[in-house]
Amino acid sequence: MGIIGSRENKDKKPVVLIVGGGYGGVQCAKALDKTGHFFVVLIDRKSYFFHNIGALRASVEPNYAHQILIPYDRLLTHGCVVQAEVEVISPDGVKVNGHDEPIQFDYLVIATGSSYAFPGKVAETEQSQALAHYDNLRQKIEQAKRILIIGGGPVGIELAGEIATDFPHKDITLVHSGVALLDSGAFKKEFYTRLQADLERLGVKIVFNDRVDLNTTTYAHQHEKFIEGDQTFLTTKGKIEIKTDLTFVCTGAHVNNRSLKAGPLVAELDPNKEGRLNVNEYLQVKGYTNIFAIGDISSKEEKLAFLADKQADYVASFITRIEHKKDFPEEYRPAKHPAMLVTLGRNGGVGQLPTKGGSTIVKYVKSKGMLTSKQWCTLNQKRHQATQSTDTEQLDHSSGYENKLDSLKHSMEFTEDDARQLLAGLPAKELELGQDFI
Ligand SMILES: Cc1cc2nc3c(=O)[nH]c(=O)nc-3n(C[C@H](O)[C@H](O)[C@H](O)COP(=O)(O)OP(=O)(O)OC[C@H]3O[C@@H](n4cnc5c(N)ncnc54)[C@H](O)[C@@H]3O)c2cc1C
Repeated sequence: MGIIGSRENKDKKPVVLIVGGGYGGVQCAKALDKTGHFFVVLIDRKSYFFHNIGALRASVEPNYAHQILIPYDRLLTHGCVVQAEVEVISPDGVKVNGHDEPIQFDYLVIATGSSYAFPGKVAETEQSQALAHYDNLRQKIEQAKRILIIGGGPVGIELAGEIATDFPHKDITLVHSGVALLDSGAFKKEFYTRLQADLERLGVKIVFNDRVDLNTTTYAHQHEKFIEGDQTFLTTKGKIEIKTDLTFVCTGAHVNNRSLKAGPLVAELDPNKEGRLNVNEYLQVKGYTNIFAIGDISSKEEKLAFLADKQADYVASFITRIEHKKDFPEEYRPAKHPAMLVTLGRNGGVGQLPTKGGSTIVKYVKSKGMLTSKQWCTLNQKRHQATQSTDTEQLDHSSGYENKLDSLKHSMEFTEDDARQLLAGLPAKELELGQDFI
């Protein structure tokens, strides 16, 4: 068990134990730590925060991986980050690998999130291993001539966009089982048509309503679903022959609930929601007043980092209120409108927000810096300087906007004014009144 930034709970403050140091866990830990009223213990198996929003950029840009692996050591002032594998989460305590005695808590926040096949997320617990992994993959992408991406969800789309932008001469095919990219009918029609048109303009061939049979495929590691070497696939419906020398399988996340299955909270895992934890309207795990679940592990809301942040802020303020014996807070208000910002490489993408300007924000903000500055700021760190994206100026320019993107957490209440503020300073033609931005 490694302790990062260890401090003792000398003043016997109430202990908030947070399992999972992803977006939700880190945001909640920081908010509670700031109050000074709690001793916050954040546990994660990794020695670093993984900013997976930038993971696909790290797959194509040399050294970019340094930007998305952020140390935890400056996160907390009144607590500590513990590097350990959590084996059992139970209302009586949390058991970590190698220690018989469970860790006790006054409040427990479960934020174990989800896993995704590399390169979307990484399984490596040490920074050096993860860096080597991205470096290795980038070289494979550089060398490959024909690339197949299976799955037209956000990860498959963004990966195709990154590769097509940085390596415009590669032959890239994306096979998607749905009739439109993303599979979700929640967005405006223009969102889908523009996404497809922009990806095709980058030279990506898209095969819809078809599948690639991978039943006989074996992977070197279960968490790395890419296949190296010459392959010829025949799609199952259209019998389209696809020759490839590098194949990525981008077909969905896996909920991190093993440590919950090993304890009594297994009863609250919802089989209809891929094994996520059922929570009530206050984000409490059903049946418990001092146990909460946020982010991808929770059955609430869409699975997005900014919503994990929003839930984290809610739970932090809830815990603070009940600790101070204030009135019960209002119920958590889930997102009212669909919102998504999908990048297509470093020069563009398509976005939908509850107001206009989604695609402009993708183009000028997210696609440039991948919201990385904001995340370094959340972890109280100065951004990694040893490497730099090709767009230094754009990154610095965009970091101000990134911080303003905090309002996206409350974005379902995102107003026209918020959007104008966020977009202020961008080229005027992008902001022409009445222009129909997605
Ligand atoms: C490639 C990619 C791009 C994305 N882009 C966006 C985007 O642009 N915008 C957006 O809003 N969302 C995006 N998402 C979705 C977003 O990443 C997730 O919604 C987000 O990661 C959820 O945060 P979380 O805190 O719930 O969990 P996670 O970020 O999954 O973090 C969970 C943490 O818990 C730890 N953990 C789990 N189990 C254990 C255990 N047993 N012991 C110890 N530690 C454990 C893990 O190591 C991990 O650090 C993207 C996802 C992917 C894969």
